[in-house]
Amino acid sequence: MSRVWNFSAGPAALPQAVLERAQREMLDWNGSGASVMEQSHRGKRFIEMAAQAEADLRALLAIPADYAVLFLQGGATQHFAQIPMNLAGAGDSADYIVSGHWSAKAVSEAATYVRVNVAASGEADHYLKLPARESWQLDPQAAYVHYTPNETIHGVEFHNIPDVDAVPLVADMSSNILSEPLDVSRFGLIYAGAQKNIGPSGLVLMIIRRDLLQRAGRPMAKIFRYAEHAANDSMLNTPNTWGWYLAGLTFQWLQEQGGIAVIGERNRAKAELLYQAIDGSGGYYRSPVEPSARSRMNVPFTLHDAALDTAFLKESEAAGLLALKGHKAVGGMRASLYNAVSLEAVKVLTAFMQDFAQRHG
Ligand code: PMP
Repeated sequence: MSRVWNFSAGPAALPQAVLERAQREMLDWNGSGASVMEQSHRGKRFIEMAAQAEADLRALLAIPADYAVLFLQGGATQHFAQIPMNLAGAGDSADYIVSGHWSAKAVSEAATYVRVNVAASGEADHYLKLPARESWQLDPQAAYVHYTPNETIHGVEFHNIPDVDAVPLVADMSSNILSEPLDVSRFGLIYAGAQKNIGPSGLVLMIIRRDLLQRAGRPMAKIFRYAEHAANDSMLNTPNTWGWYLAGLTFQWLQEQGGIAVIGERNRAKAELLYQAIDGSGGYYRSPVEPSARSRMNVPFTLHDAALDTAFLKESEAAGLLALKGHKAVGGMRASLYNAVSLEAVKVLTAFMQDFAQRHG
């Protein structure tokens, strides 16, 4: 068996131990004689597993009791639209901070359901830096403030939680959830597609302050209403049982690693190593992002001569380094360093980069 060094932006690398355990349990899960995918979510085994996954997540992030945890579907994209449906009434407005591709997408999807106020945007800076907090034009009457703490494509990350006074802060943490300790109490709502730091795609994790479940929002079918999902333990309809199970295994793996503080340190070391390799290359490689806004999870970089891109991608793939091609919106390369990517993988990458630079000097 040969596993690659996987730097995919998502769906992304999962911990090998999690995959191996899922493989062991595939045919006979938990003594049931069937896989987890082949049995009812109403059964005792599944309900216990689901509750354990939630309890483990609550322990990992020290989630306060006044927050509900939901295991939903639809991808983060569906919730770009569903969040305003639930949190904003007719005529309400919401503040959006636009810091890259995904927060811009959140705005365009939300606009059908809420009056969007773009309170700040990094577009004029090509999303290479974050709009300074002092420049944000926040509305104290806004239904909520939405932002994207880590932009997966542009590789910019907020390293502090912005203070938005009493207005609930909503965060799309698809690409940085569980990557470092988090003060959940600063947020009204946190959501994340699972396919980077949690498990397979098709699952969305949501952490929502319970008082926000009381908001009337707008008229909508039950299936869209977060309060209904909460009241039914995320089993209003058939959940993504496989995704939920794998998420649970990932939470256990995170605990075995020593918890989120340990993971956070490891992620910091991984990112530092890669940025040092880029910055220390004498201009051979370049990070376009302003240093204070550099993401720990997604590291875009360019080669000094774009004519070398094809050779870089071909040779890196031959060396077992997968998915380094940058997103077409920004070009160049991108290495994603989610939790399941080891420090060793980053060492292999930086060694390859140095070797490539010498050979193609
Ligand atoms: N938000 C962010 C920050 C993302 O990185 C992505 C996907 N890469 C999305 C939203 C969209 O997620 P999905 O495809 O699960 O809808």
